[in-house]
Amino acid sequence: MTKRLHIAVVGGGAAGFFAAIAAKQTNPEARVTIFERGQKVLAKVLITGGGRCNLTNSFAQIMDLKQAYPRGDKMMKRLFNVFSHKDTWQWFEQRGVKLVKQDDECVFPISQSAQSVVDALTHEAHKLGVEVRTGYAVEAVKQMENGDLQLLFKVQKPVTVQRAAITTGGSPQANALQYLANLGHNIVQPVPSLFTFNIADAAFKA
Ligand SMILES: Cc1cc2nc3c(=O)[nH]c(=O)nc-3n(C[C@H](O)[C@H](O)[C@H](O)COP(=O)(O)OP(=O)(O)OC[C@H]3O[C@@H](n4cnc5c(N)ncnc54)[C@H](O)[C@@H]3O)c2cc1C
Repeated sequence: MTKRLHIAVVGGGAAGFFAAIAAKQTNPEARVTIFERGQKVLAKVLITGGGRCNLTNSFAQIMDLKQAYPRGDKMMKRLFNVFSHKDTWQWFEQRGVKLVKQDDECVFPISQSAQSVVDALTHEAHKLGVEVRTGYAVEAVKQMENGDLQLLFKVQKPVTVQRAAITTGGSPQANALQYLANLGHNIVQPVPSLFTFNIADAAFKA
């Protein structure tokens, strides 16, 4: 009897849910599990776009991706060939999230609430039978002799899978990703991108 394929997705953010949904659609017979270290999934999506989630852009005013993504235009071009902003628009509308384009070409849910995006992703994953485990922090991934991968957790017993997608988001320290370097992956040195300042001085409010 052939073993049932088990695909692990490490990290329950936007990328993890999208990867898990795509993995299950492509391999309906496989078991797909999201392992999230926090108690909640998709927590960051809820705070995006000031709680409204700016989920794409019309790109009508962007003639050259280099203007918008100076550090990653080539990669964006490659990704958009596979799944463009138009596909994003269609994907969410087909799953009940009506979208609206602002005058500045940014696209938001018509509900003006990131919760609609979270609901669509969780509903789609649930509908397809994606399993979600919260409180599972992956500490290392071990490659077995037969090609399987063993996920080692901070608390729980190890889990053996045949495939794993790592969607753990950005990491402020490259050494937190050492377990991936140990598997032979190149780790790009992290650089700050979008972040918030938390300044208590009331003078700034004015
Ligand atoms: C204030 C703010 C506003 C933003 N607004 C927008 C916006 O409007 N539109 C937009 O497109 N983007 C926006 N972004 C960027 C967007 O939020 C991120 O690009 C996106 O959420 C990244 O998704 P991700 O799934 O890659 O990572 P994350 O959302 O960071 O998810 C990674 C998940 O992996 C989990 N994890 C990490 N390590 C482990 C481990 N070892 N084991 C198990 N689980 C692990 C984390 O707990 C987390 O849940 C915003 C970002 C911020 C900070």
